[in-house]
Amino acid sequence: MTLARHDAIVIGAGVAGLSTALYLQRAGIGVAVIDPLPPAGGTSFGNAGLLSPDTAVPIALPGMLRKVPGWLMDPLGPLSVRPAYFPRALPWLLRWIQAGKLDKVLAISDAMRALNGETLSCWQELLGPSPYRDLIRPTGQVHVWEGGGDSANAAVERQIRERHGIRADPLTSDDLRQMFPGISRDVTRGLLLPGNGFTVSPQRSVRTLGDLLLQEGGALINERAMKLIPKDGGGWMVMTNTANRSADHVVVATGAWSRQLLDPLGIKVALESERGYHAMLFDPEVTPSIPISNKTRAFGVTPMEDGLRVGGTVEISGLDAAPNEARAKVLVEHAKRMFPGLTGDKVRYWMGHRPSTPDSLPILGPAGGHPGLHLAFGHGHFGMTGGPPSGRLVSRMILGQPPGIDPAPYAAQRFR
Ligand SMILES: Cc1cc2nc3c(=O)[nH]c(=O)nc-3n(C[C@H](O)[C@H](O)[C@H](O)COP(=O)(O)OP(=O)(O)OC[C@H]3O[C@@H](n4cnc5c(N)ncnc54)[C@H](O)[C@@H]3O)c2cc1C
Repeated sequence: MTLARHDAIVIGAGVAGLSTALYLQRAGIGVAVIDPLPPAGGTSFGNAGLLSPDTAVPIALPGMLRKVPGWLMDPLGPLSVRPAYFPRALPWLLRWIQAGKLDKVLAISDAMRALNGETLSCWQELLGPSPYRDLIRPTGQVHVWEGGGDSANAAVERQIRERHGIRADPLTSDDLRQMFPGISRDVTRGLLLPGNGFTVSPQRSVRTLGDLLLQEGGALINERAMKLIPKDGGGWMVMTNTANRSADHVVVATGAWSRQLLDPLGIKVALESERGYHAMLFDPEVTPSIPISNKTRAFGVTPMEDGLRVGGTVEISGLDAAPNEARAKVLVEHAKRMFPGLTGDKVRYWMGHRPSTPDSLPILGPAGGHPGLHLAFGHGHFGMTGGPPSGRLVSRMILGQPPGIDPAPYAAQRFR
């Protein structure tokens, strides 16, 4: 049994944990990151790789609620809730409905933009110039719609973009056909968001954060944290499957699994897994130059270094239910409909757990009433974007430095 002491322990080697760890390590704090999986072994492995400084539109919106019953009727539609899990998810779903009210949406959007607006500069700061050039493409993203008429949330989305000065250039169907030869005529209009970008490999981007942490003197420890125990006189003991590790500061960055460590301490947060899927097409024949999000069918395609990634869907079924690969297969059908020339014979299916809060904001900063315990999770649909700026914010709060942005909207206390 190992008994070890570290300056700080970060639990979870996803994008949120490794960003926090690297910022701390660079500030002179010796960090150990604990995770039974290698870096990017969780949800950070298989996301769509969109890095979007423009992220300011929460998932819960007034118009969204009207769509939900229709989606729920279709077991392979963009949203499904497994009936047996519904009672457990209900409190979170009710908070999600509350968060979708217009007065809340604008305040949430301000906090989303304040954090996510820094994503590309934080990725650059963390990776350094050469890995950044290798992994990140600040080329813009395109959103597209099928059919005519505005979507239910078009007005509020426009209002949010104007509020934050986000540039969005309208694209006609002819523009789209020029940009993306072979795109279906069902796709009738689009928006180019030139301020956004993507990574050609979420896994390699996050793994590089782990490599840098090791090079700069930090540690990666393959253990599972089982319990957090406050120590007499201050600091924390992390009881893992094979060791007892102590530190003055412990950061919980265990994504969708974070309640497992916090519930026993009486720290209540509204966190639910929104399971999502990807289908990775290895020899796709069609490769758009930049990511396309199809807003009508709620899926997206991202050109990655090893093929075309088709990602999307939300499934509320908890952490333990087996994946339903039919949901990933539907994504391939959607992609083939958008690009009829697409081939997809060599495919990998994947399921991951978005760590989601009802208000689309992560949970960052001190776990109030538990000195030395800090939180860095809850990034939901936007963790590849929000992870690095969150790491910077949380590390600054631990170091007692000016946080740079107002941390109040992300505080765990908002759920009490
Ligand atoms: C289909 C899909 C598409 C997405 N697309 C995008 C996108 O385009 N852009 C974007 O910004 N975001 C996207 N996301 C969201 C993004 O992937 C997540 O928000 C992000 O990866 C969460 O990172 P994390 O570090 O919090 O969690 P994770 O990456 O899940 O890491 C948590 C880690 O904690 C570890 N852990 C859990 N319990 C313990 C324990 N007890 N002890 C030790 N370790 C533990 C796990 O093993 C895991 O490695 C997408 C998500 C999905 C599912």
